[in-house]
Amino acid sequence: MPAFHIWTLGCQMNVADSLKLAAGLERLGWTEAAEYTEAGLVVINTCSVRQHAEDRAYGRLHTLRQRREAGAQFQIAVMGCMVGPKTDDLQRRFPFVDVWARPQEFDPILAKAGVVRDASEGEFWTETFATPTGPTAYIPVVHGCDKFCTYCIVPLRRGRERSRPIVDVLAEVRHLAEHGVREVTLLGQTVEAYGHDLGGADAGADLATLFEGIERIDGIARTRFLTSYPKDMTDRIIDAVADLPKVCEHFNIPVQSGDDAVLARMRRGYSVAEYEERVARIRSRMPDVALATDVIVGSPGETDEEFRNTVGLLERTGFDVIHVAAYSPRPGTFAYRNQPDDVPTEVKRERLQVIEALHAASAGRINARLVGRSVEVLVEREQEGRLTGRIRGGQLVHFDGYRNLVGNLVDVSVTEATPWSLQGQQAGALSFSVV
Ligand code: SF4
Repeated sequence: MPAFHIWTLGCQMNVADSLKLAAGLERLGWTEAAEYTEAGLVVINTCSVRQHAEDRAYGRLHTLRQRREAGAQFQIAVMGCMVGPKTDDLQRRFPFVDVWARPQEFDPILAKAGVVRDASEGEFWTETFATPTGPTAYIPVVHGCDKFCTYCIVPLRRGRERSRPIVDVLAEVRHLAEHGVREVTLLGQTVEAYGHDLGGADAGADLATLFEGIERIDGIARTRFLTSYPKDMTDRIIDAVADLPKVCEHFNIPVQSGDDAVLARMRRGYSVAEYEERVARIRSRMPDVALATDVIVGSPGETDEEFRNTVGLLERTGFDVIHVAAYSPRPGTFAYRNQPDDVPTEVKRERLQVIEALHAASAGRINARLVGRSVEVLVEREQEGRLTGRIRGGQLVHFDGYRNLVGNLVDVSVTEATPWSLQGQQAGALSFSVV
């Protein structure tokens, strides 16, 4: 039986794409090899958001080329965000790669690998769902991005926003629930853009419509969503998060900078005041909401004062989690062509450390407030008698327990907290049982 192996780099969207490709190959009779050395088809699912991620893909390609030169017979496919509409340059640099496939375009991989499928059997990919391996799963609901922030390569690789029909998304959620999934995370580069491009029976639908549909699916206990974009976040979506019991009160809203001039240079499409207004609206409906954000330091032209404004915003808001990255120019973007990467590496490193310290202090304070309280944990895994799961706000919790609790909601009393996780003890009876 032919075997494949997939290396996945990057974000949850890539993880979901890899699972879908694997599900498609398995449907056609292939099996997944545990090691790439046992596979007749090796796929690298790439990420281009930072140079570091691309370097890892180059490292994998180097490994595969050496294996090929040593005489091994296998196909090499590269998919994901490194692959744009034109592949001439990539083909020149990596002539040993057999097939290039843009994000979510799986057919070229199947065709090149010699996989034959009968088109008369109807739509293939929309009916291909990954088999879940645990109680949580990611579901892409809107592909691509229409925002064109100056530093970002994603819209150039993943294309314009395309929402999946409601019926497809809900069919996938039902499939996952039937296979033991208790928590789904709806994914989009800007997930609140869901529905903007839909017509026909789905015209007028939005992310809240999906939340409402998932509320009615038995077995699903929690719904999450990633990643938020302030300008697309309507009051209706915020109200749905506040009112629907399954939707977790947890927002990841990248701000990127706390300075209006920097936001304008990034073409983020909102001001600091507009961002803060959305956060205020969320907190007015959900005072205990968990908030995460993303920040880029050292973007082109960022002055000390502009950086201090970012620090000020982060201190005022008090985020549970701050993801921070130093700016790295991505070839092909507007910033790469027009905005010199003029902040010295040392300054970027210092600013990175400042934000990391801020994150540790802020998350440490927020998590410390949970000590002594009982929290609801969805148990995700067990290792040597130690269970790990997440609370509704997204924090990881570790506590002692048994394997048969995986997939259950358990009340846990928090005993210790760090900025990165919580420790606890099981407090009472199961609040939701599937075993
Ligand atoms: S919103 Fe901006 S940063 Fe996010 S994916 Fe779209 S273009 Fe990139």
